[in-house]
Amino acid sequence: MPSPAAENPIDLSCLPSVDEMLGEEMTVSMISELGRDRVVAMVRGLIGEKRDAILSGRENLPKGPAVRQAITNELTEKLGAARSTELVAGVRRVINATGVVIHTNLGRAPLSERAVRAMVDAAGYASIEYDLEKGSRGARGPKAVSLLKLLTGAEDVLAVNNCAAAALLVLSVFAKEREVIVSRGELVEIGGDFRIPDILTHSGAVLREVGTTNRTHLRDYEKALSARTAMILKVHPSNFRITGFTKTPGTAELAELAHRNDVLFYEDAGSGAMLDLGSFGIKDEPVIRNLIADGADLVSFSGDKLLGGPQSGIIAGRSELIQRLRRDPFYRALRLDKTITAALEATLEAYALESAGQEVPVLRMLAVSEDEVAARSGRFIEKLRGVLKKNADLQAELNQSQSAVGGGASPDSVIGTTVIELTHSQLTDTELERRLRKSVKTPVITRIEAGKVLIDLRTVAESEENEIVDALEIIASG
Ligand SMILES: *Cc1c(COP(=O)(O)O)cnc(C)c1O
Repeated sequence: MPSPAAENPIDLSCLPSVDEMLGEEMTVSMISELGRDRVVAMVRGLIGEKRDAILSGRENLPKGPAVRQAITNELTEKLGAARSTELVAGVRRVINATGVVIHTNLGRAPLSERAVRAMVDAAGYASIEYDLEKGSRGARGPKAVSLLKLLTGAEDVLAVNNCAAAALLVLSVFAKEREVIVSRGELVEIGGDFRIPDILTHSGAVLREVGTTNRTHLRDYEKALSARTAMILKVHPSNFRITGFTKTPGTAELAELAHRNDVLFYEDAGSGAMLDLGSFGIKDEPVIRNLIADGADLVSFSGDKLLGGPQSGIIAGRSELIQRLRRDPFYRALRLDKTITAALEATLEAYALESAGQEVPVLRMLAVSEDEVAARSGRFIEKLRGVLKKNADLQAELNQSQSAVGGGASPDSVIGTTVIELTHSQLTDTELERRLRKSVKTPVITRIEAGKVLIDLRTVAESEENEIVDALEIIASG
């Protein structure tokens, strides 16, 4: 018996060939924009999808003499849409109007002008590992090391790709196949898949949990100590808080206990606060210098959270321990790139010059007072109303709200702010949010609260305000 397909064969000769599609006018200009191989792959993909849709019966074959032309037109239109997507793909500058200062999805800390200049300067050949005095090979990024030693008070410092890499390196070098004592209240997951138990497992260390979720006493650590113990680890719970009936020993107590028992004390501080940021509304964020002074052997923290620099993970501590980390082959796989090293050095230089509060964007944004944001928002809304004139579809009002620190800072750390609330009589909140995000020139990222699209100028540079006004004008004019 013939199969149904053989009985009623589907004629695929109506599909254009790849070569025919490449001859279309639009495809020719696409090749100059995107390159031949990419366009060929896109065309193949679209023809393949069409073939599958027809063969599976999901789509009926159009009838009539001009079938082939109709399909070619349809595929060309789809290719046009794919072209628009492709032309704006990749990492692009965006305007962060969310009010979340350290926004992990938007690249955390925006760099200072000094750091950007240093990065560009280092992009060509650069003295990353070359001693210009001696004219021979030198240490890698020694300036960042000496500035960090000065700022943290540590004997020595090592910088790697991020704080997760820092933790992995420390644990694998000092605790492989040995026990690491951690409080149950600190076995946390921090945004972006960083989970303390997983990091311990991957480093080859053995997790020894002590205490309970809400309370862990010094004696719990003490009882867990044995000949198998390599270190006591304290983890800053970052964006997670247990409140109420809680207890956990401090750095000084744990360091003292560790040293009395000849084991190491390592603290993963997460966010690298160089200064006390309490006056900015940032709650219980440890200052790295204090942890070192309290006796921590090793402390790790991110370079792109409260420090306000490029993505990096910094390990500060006792010199013989840091030297062992530096000599370990694993470090070679985690070390910083030259442009990142240059940006880190420039960020740290601002701290050394005591101008970080004005220069480092994260600190500057956190320091902006509620009154200042309110005044800027008032001026912004006047500008916007002037541009919108009599167009009543888009409405903008001021309201009180809160900015967030983000980047693993305590959820209790909130900063009062003023937001511009947008509503559109013809568009839903999600559609208005989408249109701002898809703005042709620069995507504007906002947040939605109670049916309104909010713009928080705390995280928007003054030079970006006009871009937002322009984007809203385009949306308002349909
Ligand atoms: C954020 C954080 C990390 C991870 O840091 P990355 O730089 O993102 O790798 C690790 N530990 C703590 C406590 C953190 O807050």
